[in-house]
Amino acid sequence: MTKYVYAFDEGQKDMKDLLGGKGANLSEMKRLGLPVPDGFTITTEACIEYLKNGEKLADEVQNQLETQLAAFSERTGKAFSSNDHLLLVSVRSGAKISMPGMMDTILNLGLNDENVEKLAAKTGDARFSYDCYRRLLQMFGEVVYHIPMSAFDTYFNAYKQSHGYENDADIPAEGLKEICEHYKTVYIEEVYKPFPQAPIDQLREAIEAVFKSWDNDRARVYRDLNEIPHDIGTAVNVQEMVFGNSGPKSGTGVAFTRNPVTGEAQLFGEYLLNAQGEDVVAGIRTPKDIATLQAQMPHVHQAFVEVSEQLEAHYKDMQDIEFTIENEKLYILQTRNGKRTAKAAIQIAVDLVDEGVITKEEAMHKVDVKSIDTLLHPTFKDEALEVAEVISKAGLPASPGAATGKIVFSAEAAQLQAEQGEKVILMRPETSPEDIEGMIASEAIVTTHGGMTSHAAVVARGMGKCCVTGCSDLEINTKEKIVSYAGKTLQEGDMVSVDGAKGDLYVGEIETTSAEHSEAFEQFMQWAEDVARLNVRMNAETTPDIEAGYQFNAKGIGLVRTEHMFFGAERLVEMRRFILSSDDATRKAALDKIRAYQTEDFEQIFRLSGERPTIVRLLDPPLHEFLPKSEDEIQNVAQQLAIPVEKLNKRILELHETNPMLGHRGCRLAITYPELYVMQAEAIMNSVAQLQQEGIHCQPEIMIPLVSTVEEFKILQTQIVEAIQRIETTTDQTLHFLMGTMIETPRACMIANELAEVCDFFSFGTNDLTQLTYGFSRDDAGKFINEYLNQQILEVDPFQTLDVNGVGALIKMAVEQAKQVNESIKIGVCGELGGDPKSIHHFNKMAIDYVSCSPFRVPGAILATAQSVVESER
Ligand code: PEP
Ligand code: MG
Repeated sequence: MTKYVYAFDEGQKDMKDLLGGKGANLSEMKRLGLPVPDGFTITTEACIEYLKNGEKLADEVQNQLETQLAAFSERTGKAFSSNDHLLLVSVRSGAKISMPGMMDTILNLGLNDENVEKLAAKTGDARFSYDCYRRLLQMFGEVVYHIPMSAFDTYFNAYKQSHGYENDADIPAEGLKEICEHYKTVYIEEVYKPFPQAPIDQLREAIEAVFKSWDNDRARVYRDLNEIPHDIGTAVNVQEMVFGNSGPKSGTGVAFTRNPVTGEAQLFGEYLLNAQGEDVVAGIRTPKDIATLQAQMPHVHQAFVEVSEQLEAHYKDMQDIEFTIENEKLYILQTRNGKRTAKAAIQIAVDLVDEGVITKEEAMHKVDVKSIDTLLHPTFKDEALEVAEVISKAGLPASPGAATGKIVFSAEAAQLQAEQGEKVILMRPETSPEDIEGMIASEAIVTTHGGMTSHAAVVARGMGKCCVTGCSDLEINTKEKIVSYAGKTLQEGDMVSVDGAKGDLYVGEIETTSAEHSEAFEQFMQWAEDVARLNVRMNAETTPDIEAGYQFNAKGIGLVRTEHMFFGAERLVEMRRFILSSDDATRKAALDKIRAYQTEDFEQIFRLSGERPTIVRLLDPPLHEFLPKSEDEIQNVAQQLAIPVEKLNKRILELHETNPMLGHRGCRLAITYPELYVMQAEAIMNSVAQLQQEGIHCQPEIMIPLVSTVEEFKILQTQIVEAIQRIETTTDQTLHFLMGTMIETPRACMIANELAEVCDFFSFGTNDLTQLTYGFSRDDAGKFINEYLNQQILEVDPFQTLDVNGVGALIKMAVEQAKQVNESIKIGVCGELGGDPKSIHHFNKMAIDYVSCSPFRVPGAILATAQSVVESER
C-alpha cells in the first residue's frame, strides 16, 4: 500500500521528492531535536494522483489523513473539537523546489463560530481569538475560493476609518467580531456558499486547494522559466499552530544565517512582536532588525542564534529560517537553503571552504553559472527600474549588460555619433556583418527579429556588449527613424536604457551599479580551474575582447573570426576591389594591401596571446556579404573603384546565391580563390615570425572552415604549407604552427578518421553543425523554434543547448574516430554551445580538450567545467 501521509518524525532531509523541500526539512529538524511544532506531510505522489484523477482526493489518501489526524491528536493531546485543548493548524504548500506562484499558507485552520469562543475562553483574550478568526476567514477565502483580497480589505479599511482606529491592534474584540460576521457574508456574495464550519472540511478543502494551485498559470510560467518539470507535484504540510500574535511576549520573523546580499557572515533578519507570519511580509508594520531581539528577549535571541548555527552546520549552507515566538518560547517553522545574489553566493562559498565546512569541490555547486554573468557587467539599480517606463519586455536576453544611450537606426549613424562622443543604442530590425563597426561604436544593440544565435546576438556576446534581440512588440521604421511601442513612438536621439540580462527596454537613463571583482571571486575561480578537466578558451579578435578574456583566465583563443577584419572602411574597399576586378594586377595589389592590414592585426592579436595557443580561422562568409546593397551604396562603390555601375550590378548578380549559407563560403572560397587563404596564412606567419624575433614564441593554429572532404583540406594545406615554407626561407626562421579544421558539416563527422590523419586539431563549429544536421537555417529558425518548444517538439533550442541524440551523437562519434587514428589530435568546441553549461556537461564526458566561447562567458564556462567534474564523480 502506498504511504501518502508522513508524520514529521517519519521523514528526513533526503526525502524532498516525496515530502517536498519544506516537509523534508521539517522532518529533519524534528529529528535533530529542534523546537518544531508537530505535524505531518501529505506527499507529492498524492498531489500527482489527485490531478490525474480529475481533482478527486483518493479514498486511500482520505483514510490515511484521518488515521494520521487521530495519531497527531494523540501526540499533541489536542483535538479540533476539544474545549480545553483546542487543535488549530497551519496548512502550507511545499514543492521539491520552492516555487512562488502557488498557494502558500493558511493559518489558524480549525477555527469556526464555536471554536473561536473556546479559544477566547481558554486564553482569556477574545481580541486575540477573533483576530485569528478574521485572518483565517480572509486567507481561506482568498486561497481556497479565490475571493479577491479587496473584497475583505476594502471593508476592513473602511471599518477602521469609520471607527477612528489607526492601527489594526486598536480594533477591540467586539469590532473584530463584527468584521468576522461581515467576512462570512462575503463568502455568500462572492461564491454563493458559506465558510465551511467543520474543521475537517476546512482541512480537506485547503489540501485540495494546494494540489490545484500546482497547475495554475503563474506556477506553470514559473516552472517553464526555471526549467522545473510539470509532473513532480507539490506536498502539503499540516502543522500545529503556534501564535506569534498572542501578546507582547510573542512574535514572528525570518532570518538568514548570513547576509544574502553581500554574503557577510552575520545573522541577517527581521521580526515583529505580536504578529502572525503575513504581517512581516505585508509590510504594513516595519519589522525590527534581528539584532534588537537580543535586548528585548535575550534568551530567545540566544536560542535562535544556536539553532541557526546548528542548522547551517548541518545543511552546510546558508539557511533561510522562519520562526515564531509564543510567550517567550522559540519555535522553528521552516528552514531552507537561502536565495542569494551572485556576489553573496561567491563570498559564502569561499567562506564555507575557509571555515572547513565544505570542500572546494562542494563549493562549485553553491554558485549558479547563470548568475556569474551579473558579476561581470554593470546592472541597473532595482529601485530605479521600479519607476522606469517600460518600452518592451518581449525581447530575448541575448547578451547581458546595462546600457543607456541615444537611439540610432543605422550603423553609420552609430559610428558618426559615437565619434562625436555620444553614447548610442543601435536599434535595427536585424544586423549583418556590415554593421560591425556601428555595433562596436554602440553601447547596446537591440533588434526586433532574430533569436539568441542571430548575428546581433553572437557578435554582441563576443564583444561582451549588451544586446536584446527579437523584441517582437516593437516596430522599427529605419526610413522615418522612429520606433513604435504600445501606441507611442520614440525618435532618433531619444534616450533609452537596455537591460541585456533580462531582455528589457526602458525610456530614459537609469542609474547603474558597476561590476567589481572581489578577492573572493578570484579565489573561487582559481578553485574552479583546479577542479576542472576541460580548458576554456575564448572566441575573440578585438583588443578589448581579448584583454577581457585573458583577464577572466581564458587559456588561449579558440576562434579568431577573420572576416571581421575585412569590414573596416579602408579594408572593405580593397576587398571589394579584389572581388570585383577582373584584372590580375589590380587584384594582386588589393590583396597586398589586405595582407598588410591583416599582418598588423595578427601581430596585435598574437602579442596579446603571447605563448598561449591561438586559432585563426581563415575567411568563412560568402563573398556577397562584402558587396554593396542599396542603390546609393552601389553608386558610391562604382565611383570609388572606377567601375561602370552596370558592370558592378552584373557582378553582384553573378555573386548572388539562393542559399548563401550552403553556398560559396568557407573552404570552398579558397578552392576557387586560392590566393585568399594563402594571403591570410602569410599574414599570420609574417606576424608570428616578427614576434619570434622579439623572443615571443607564439602558438598559431591555422583553421580551415566548413570542410566536408579530405581532398579540400589536403589541397589547401599543401598551398598554405608551401607559402609558410617560403616565409621560413626569406626570414631564415623555423616557424611552428598547427593546421586543423572546423568540423561543421555532418559529412566531416562521418569522415573524422580520414580528417584526423591529416589534421593537428579539430574544432567543432556547433552553430553550423546544428544548422546542417537539422536543416534549420540559423538565421531563420527564430520564426518557428518557439512554436517547436511550445508544442514540445523540441525540448531545447539546439542552437543554445546541445541536441544530445543528434548533433551530440555526431560529435561523440567523430571524437572517438579521430582519437583512434590520431591520439594526440587536439579537440575543441567553438560554437555557441561551447559556453553553455548544459552542453559543457556533455562535452566533459567526451575526449574533448577545451571549449571556447565569448570572453564574457569564460568565467561561467570555467565554473560549468568544474561542476561537470564534481557531478561525474558523485
Ligand atoms: C560555428 O559554426 O559554430 C562557428 C563557430 O562559426 P560561425 O558561427 O562563425 O559560423
Ligand atoms: Mg561556422
